[in-house]
Amino acid sequence: MKKKGELSDSERALFENVQNGNTLVVKELLSKDDVDVNCLDDYGMTPLQNTAFKANVEMCQILLSHGADVNKNEHENGYTTLMFAALSGNTEVTKMMLDAGAKTSPVNSVGRNACQMAAFVGQHECVTVIKNFFPSDELNYYTVPHGFEKEPKLRTDLAPTLHKFILCNNVSPVKLALFLKENMELVNETPKITKVLEHICEKQMKASETNDVLALKMHYLVQVLEACRKWDVEKTDVGIDGFIKVLLKERESDGVPIGMEKFIRDAIREFPYHDSELFVQVVRNLADTQPGREPSALVMLTQSINGTRSIEIEDLCSACNEPKAEKKCSACKYVRYCNQSCQKLHWFTHKKRCKELGEKLKKAEAEKIRREEEERKRKQKEAEEAARQKEEESKGEDSKEKEGEGAITSESQETDKTTPPVEDDVQKPES
Ligand SMILES: [Zn+2]
Ligand SMILES: [Zn+2]
Repeated sequence: MKKKGELSDSERALFENVQNGNTLVVKELLSKDDVDVNCLDDYGMTPLQNTAFKANVEMCQILLSHGADVNKNEHENGYTTLMFAALSGNTEVTKMMLDAGAKTSPVNSVGRNACQMAAFVGQHECVTVIKNFFPSDELNYYTVPHGFEKEPKLRTDLAPTLHKFILCNNVSPVKLALFLKENMELVNETPKITKVLEHICEKQMKASETNDVLALKMHYLVQVLEACRKWDVEKTDVGIDGFIKVLLKERESDGVPIGMEKFIRDAIREFPYHDSELFVQVVRNLADTQPGREPSALVMLTQSINGTRSIEIEDLCSACNEPKAEKKCSACKYVRYCNQSCQKLHWFTHKKRCKELGEKLKKAEAEKIRREEEERKRKQKEAEEAARQKEEESKGEDSKEKEGEGAITSESQETDKTTPPVEDDVQKPES
């Protein structure tokens, strides 16, 4: 094996271009025979570690797709790729390394793992991303019998779907219920799945290094799963859709989805580990905020489980809370949706407020235009005043050189942008 820093010319060029973020050259270099994607620089760092620390998302993707080993660990101080990602503070890169199979347990020369390193330097969002992650092999543990078990706790064929459920970033109960509706095999096996999730939850809380982020998430997922099961079995006429409606129904006075608020609050309060710091903090926040006030229970839950950044994402779907919802209700242009099926889901309750919201938006737009017009007039006045003063000054200084009328009367050059940008509307579904 080659020593650290023993590099071919192409490999040296690779490090240089990774550093500079030159993706085109890097791609070219990676196709060369004398380039090992996992080569080491003088400090024992791989190209991937270099770029993870620089938080270059695209470069990380390129290196991973060329076989970069996310767990190669020969850095002189034992820093792993995940540590570099977490130290950079970039949640996307951190998540990418976890998805690529980065181990969370290795420690560096001062005995800290990636999560502890991130906490040490104050990258709390990355701490949450790491804590929230659950590797598939830990779930696969349940697919084989252990000890005296005659059969495993989890059917092998259910593991991939359950893993997806566990890793859902969007913890809106609507989104999770929709996922379960699409994957009824999980709902049908609710008692067994519940046991597995509760076991994972307990394991997180009893480990030497507790992980209450993941534990709270497991507990919450159980609450959603059991509610779906209950509706599916007991309310056969409406099924899980009935549960979704309860969650989405907006209070008439202020449009707050009070059913969702209550569901999430109750679910959190039932978390069995009351000495968990996270639990104490969330319950305190909930107590300080009346249902219907901001932040909502969903925002608080998302914040606790996914880190803070996720709540800053805008353009959330009014039905499932998925970010970057691009469609708008064509009637009010106020609420957003991922697609028409999300809109249909929400229409039964939105239709009561659609008109009101549309008027609110129109009013807000009119107000904005009025303010802009005021501002424009003010600026024009200022300019006129300044011109007048200047003219007077020049008159005083040099009265010989008289000019013609100098008042600026540049008539309204306003670019009247009253029309909103063209948008991709979704039609109102028939009520
Ligand atoms: Zn949606
Ligand atoms: Zn509308």
